[in-house]
Amino acid sequence: MTEHDLANSQLGSLSYDPAPESASIAHLRPSYGLFIDGAFTEASSHEQFATLNPSNETTLATVAQASSADVDRAVVAARRAYDTVWSKTTGAQRAKYLFRIARLIQERARELAVVETLDNGKPIRESRDIDIPLAAAHFFYYAGWADKLDHAGFGADPQPLGVAGQIIPWNFPLLMAAWKLAPALAAGNTCVLKPAETTPLSALILAEILQQAELPAGVVNIITGDGSTGAALVDHPDVDKIAFTGSTDVGRLIQQRVASSPKRLTLELGGKGANIVFEDAPIDEMIEGIIDGIFFNQGHVCCAGSRLLVQESVADEVLRRLVRRVEQLRVGDPLDKNTDVGAINSAAQLERIKELTAFGESEGATRYTSSCALPETGYWFAPTVFADVSQSHRIAREEIFGPVLSVLTFRTPEEAVAKANNTKYGLACGVWSEKGSRTLWVAERLRAGVIWANTYNRFDPTSPFGGVRESGFGREGGRHGLEAYLDV
Ligand code: NAP
Ligand code: MG
Repeated sequence: MTEHDLANSQLGSLSYDPAPESASIAHLRPSYGLFIDGAFTEASSHEQFATLNPSNETTLATVAQASSADVDRAVVAARRAYDTVWSKTTGAQRAKYLFRIARLIQERARELAVVETLDNGKPIRESRDIDIPLAAAHFFYYAGWADKLDHAGFGADPQPLGVAGQIIPWNFPLLMAAWKLAPALAAGNTCVLKPAETTPLSALILAEILQQAELPAGVVNIITGDGSTGAALVDHPDVDKIAFTGSTDVGRLIQQRVASSPKRLTLELGGKGANIVFEDAPIDEMIEGIIDGIFFNQGHVCCAGSRLLVQESVADEVLRRLVRRVEQLRVGDPLDKNTDVGAINSAAQLERIKELTAFGESEGATRYTSSCALPETGYWFAPTVFADVSQSHRIAREEIFGPVLSVLTFRTPEEAVAKANNTKYGLACGVWSEKGSRTLWVAERLRAGVIWANTYNRFDPTSPFGGVRESGFGREGGRHGLEAYLDV
């Protein structure tokens, strides 16, 4: 019996009982309107679309499709709220609202975690322990800045921009809403936020929370819809700033659209993060770090460590242990507290992952796929590792945005840096080594906005996040995150 078989037979005898979180705490309405000027209203066209639970393809609720007329109503409400209320509040008053929102997110944390998992497909353990607490933490953190803008390093009395149009993706729905809204409100802007088509529900619960917090009407407006709604927001002449998180392709399009206008723009786009492993790295921690780097949130993470660069001397051992660990990942019901890898967010995303991984095989990489059983309904993809990947392979160059890791090797630190930087992106990298001097040498040479040392996918509201090159520009989080919403 090989070591691998032995590990599996031991695992087989140790089975887990199901530990599902109850969905009954999610009091979803059958349908939702648009949140404009402090109230839910119908879309002008009365058009609705369904949002699904990707783990079983059932409809969770229908939401309104905002037209350009609805976008205009939302922007008018945001402008009025900016002129008459929000630009006249003191920082201390704004802080009070942000604290309230943070507290209410904490109070409704379990409900929000379940809604997020139902709508997105991510494991409840992640929405419960990461997405929702971090969303609250962002509001707490920026509440602290609202009355201290004079000391943020942007000169005395920095001014807000006005109305911010904010467009977010489906991978961290509530967290991305918090990343956008909290700094914008702290700096004194009013907002029109468009969540992604497949994950609008947590933002709509957030709208209820804003009502509970008695945030003045129009300060935040939340409009659901597809890409055309986002485009109408980008094109609206009375929006002062666009903040976008999503794909590089749509980001490029938006940059072209605003180029001839005075609108400010920040873009958080895709990535192809390198996780660089030196031979002296502590192997157990490093294996967990690699796993977390790529399989967290099904790999639907812009900063995912989707390229593993491993030093040749330890490559065989790392790969063997990695494949064994992948086999142990529990894939299935996202509401089960034991689940490690949940459902892929949409049929379209699943198609894209399948298409790109097929290139992996046809271009000659060696594929290891977990033998886990996948549910019959819903959108699922078994965790996959590709070895023998070369830099020219599409799976080494393109963002797959799924649970797929490409493994490349290197011999020297110089080669590691050259390979890590051989990408059009520049969002995040990880370095694993026992030697601090080597980590710093490598970190100084990596072209990426975020570099983690001996860890991966660590997020904190106090630390700025964002990319270089085709990963976008501007920073979210930390003191730097205020700059995107101030006229500086
Ligand atoms: P996407 O297609 O770019 O969508 C992002 C958002 O933009 C969605 O709300 C989308 O609406 C909207 N949109 C689509 N077309 C638009 C247009 N022409 N004008 C204005 N808005 C438009 O990206 P996605 O598929 O949702 O997300 C995956 C991508 O986002 C990945 O590439 C990932 O790397 C990137 N991402 C980056 C970060 C970061 O911080 N850098 C974070 C998360 C994700 P619909 O939902 O209706 O399409
Ligand atoms: Mg959904």
